[in-house]
Amino acid sequence: MIEFRQVNKYFGSFHVLKNINLTVKQGEKVVIVGPSGSGKSTLLRCINRLEPITSGELTVDGIAVNDKKTDINKLRRDFGMVFQQFNLYPHKKVIDNITLAPIKVLGVEPKTARETAMFYLEKVGIAEKADQYPSQLSGGQQQRVAIARGLAMKPKIMLFDEPTSALDPELVGEVLDVMKTLAREGMTMVVVTHEMGFAKEVADRVVFMDQGQIVEESAPAEFFANPREERARVFLRRVL
Ligand code: ADP
Ligand code: MG
Repeated sequence: MIEFRQVNKYFGSFHVLKNINLTVKQGEKVVIVGPSGSGKSTLLRCINRLEPITSGELTVDGIAVNDKKTDINKLRRDFGMVFQQFNLYPHKKVIDNITLAPIKVLGVEPKTARETAMFYLEKVGIAEKADQYPSQLSGGQQQRVAIARGLAMKPKIMLFDEPTSALDPELVGEVLDVMKTLAREGMTMVVVTHEMGFAKEVADRVVFMDQGQIVEESAPAEFFANPREERARVFLRRVL
């Protein structure tokens, strides 16, 4: 579904992604870990062309992401993206945060969009918050709204960039539980996180990045028990 072949990216003269090769198949859950500044967010943002790549090939469903002929808005509909900051519209009710894009972008009837929104709010466990404003919700609840908002666009792939990093520790679990449910249901997921327990439990593969490179890519059991690379060992000693 997603394929990076020899991808490089520069910010000016700074080489932020170095020779990235990575394949994500349908239904796979790939967890990306690594120190701050290693290029994890940039890699994620290249997938839906929030960032252009400098060289190499990047395809989604066989379509070249950076080809000028590619309809980028259509391509972006394949993705739901959840960020560390929830990015909800503060002046809109929870339900309206979720129905906005389906109505505006997909042309869904408002009534249908509301039904779909309620379905996903139920799924993330906060249907009773539909008519409240984001500021009336806890961080964990807001992040669950953000996930529901992504799902309401019926994406093929969900991208998560440190979705629990801005949350108080006691609220992390409720967001991870929603993500685990999605994973069990077969969603294709690429997740950047520092939650090593989640990686162990959910990942098909763990990708360890350092200084713009994929240093190691392995099954979680192998990665956590016996990392091959010294840089991965150093990282794990710090986070575990
Ligand atoms: P991570 O998500 O692993 O912490 P990032 O992908 O955010 O890493 O950043 C990787 C490196 O690229 C960092 O050194 C960061 O400062 C730099 N960087 C990120 N975005 C930009 C940008 N828009 N312009 C210039 N440098 C950037
Ligand atoms: Mg980041």
